[in-house]
Order: sequence, then structure tokens, then C-alpha cells
Amino acid sequence: MNVVLLGPPGAGKGTQARRLAERFGIPQIATGDILREAMASGSELGRRAKSYYDRGDLVPDEIMLEVVAERLRQPDAARGFVLDGFPRTVPQAEGLDRLLDGMGRSLQAVLLFEVPRDALVRRLSGRWVCRASGHVFHELYSPPQVPGRCDHDGSELVQREDDRPETVERRLEVYARQTAPLVEYYRARGLLHTVDASADPEEVGRRVEAALRQAGVL
Ligand code: ADP
Ligand code: AMP
Repeated sequence: MNVVLLGPPGAGKGTQARRLAERFGIPQIATGDILREAMASGSELGRRAKSYYDRGDLVPDEIMLEVVAERLRQPDAARGFVLDGFPRTVPQAEGLDRLLDGMGRSLQAVLLFEVPRDALVRRLSGRWVCRASGHVFHELYSPPQVPGRCDHDGSELVQREDDRPETVERRLEVYARQTAPLVEYYRARGLLHTVDASADPEEVGRRVEAALRQAGVL
């Protein structure tokens, strides 16, 4: 299963990518998570990415392509992957095509998550993530059993710096300008499948599987 989840920040890509990864035994490759880990560890990648990330801007394509190339070469990605948050620009999509081509592989489907803007803002403003491994909660829509603690590993839940209202506005603008053109890019290649992701997570999960069946991936 070589699939991409595409959609604006807060659309629920991470939530569904994790479910697919667990259910099908393939890695969720979330470039935002990779950058947050790099920034937390103070690595070279983290230092290069930080100023872009903090503003809600995209990290340059060359950096992101390097990150994804290295990740796709890991043995656990040999049987497939769910890309979440990548590609985010046309050059990234072109780079991904070249990369997969060089490995004798190709994308099977791109699922576009559609959610109205006001719901995106509500989802982002109530998002809490666990420090240990990025499990995602929402204070109203999927609250943890114990407030402030992750259900899976008991670690502390925190709000992302870039989920502050000013940065959210910027990230939504960046999505509209730089990432939305990918809808046409993948539609033209016959890979695009739209998912109405405004329902609850269980229902969206069913719609995702229906879209993957329709795409011939399942
Ligand atoms: P993305 O990866 O697209 O930015 P997330 O999966 O992190 O989005 O979800 C954003 C927030 O919305 C999180 O707090 C998550 O718990 C919540 N969420 C995810 N899917 C749904 C849904 N279908 N309905 C309501 N809230 C959701
Ligand atoms: P996300 O966790 O997907 O919401 O991403 C958080 C932030 O990480 C984005 O606002 C960007 O600054 C950066 N980022 C994540 N993925 C990419 C990517 N594919 N290209 C450029 N920047 C990215």
C-alpha cells in the first residue's frame, strides 16, 4: 500500500494515517512528526527547519525531499507506507515521483481530506498531542481518559506551538497557495480520491477504507 493523505492542517490526516498504519502493518510517514523530533533533539535537521516551522511556513523542498528519501529507504517501508503531510508542493510531488520511480515503485492512491474551514480551526485549537510518541487527542472530539495524560503511554499531553491562532491562519494560507495545486496534479494522474472528512473519526475511517477499495488498493 503506497498512499498519500492530502488535506489542510487539522483535516484528520494524522489520525487516519495512524489507524491505517496499525491496521495494515506499514509505517505512517509524517514529515511534521519527523521535524518535531528533529527540533526536540536539536539535530542539524531540526536547526535548519525551526524558523520556517515556527512561522507556519513550509520547510524548503530540498530539505524535505532528503528527509523522505532517507525514510523510504528504511526496511520497514519496503511493503508500503502512508505519507501524511508530504508532499506539500508541486516540486515535492515531482521529487516523490522520481524517488519512487528510482525504486521501481509508484503511488497507488492519493486521498484528499475535505473539511470546512471553521471545523479545521476548531480541530486545531483543541488538539493535544503526547510528548512521547505523538498520539493525537482533542479536548472535545476525542478527549483522553485522564485529562492531560496520553491513554496509550501515560505521557504528558501538550499543545503544539504552531496550533496558536496566528500560526493556524498562516498555515491555512500556505496550504491554499502552495499545497492545494497538488489536487490538480494528482487528479490529472488519475490518483485522486476525495474523502468527506467532516464526520467523526470512526466514520471517516470507514470512508477512507471505501476510497482505498475504490482505488483498488484494498
Ligand atoms: P492533521 O494531521 O490533518 O493535521 P489530526 O489528525 O492531527 O490532523 O487532527 C486534528 C485534530 O482534530 C486532533 O485534535 C484530532 O484529535 C481531531 N480530529 C481528527 N479527526 C477528527 C474527526 N473526524 N472529527 C473530529 N475531530 C477530529
Ligand atoms: P504538520 O505536522 O504536517 O502539520 O506540519 C507542521 C509543520 O512542519 C508545517 O507547518 C511545516 O512548517 C513543516 N512541514 C511538515 N511537512 C512538510 C513538508 N512536506 N514540506 C514542508 N514543510 C513541512
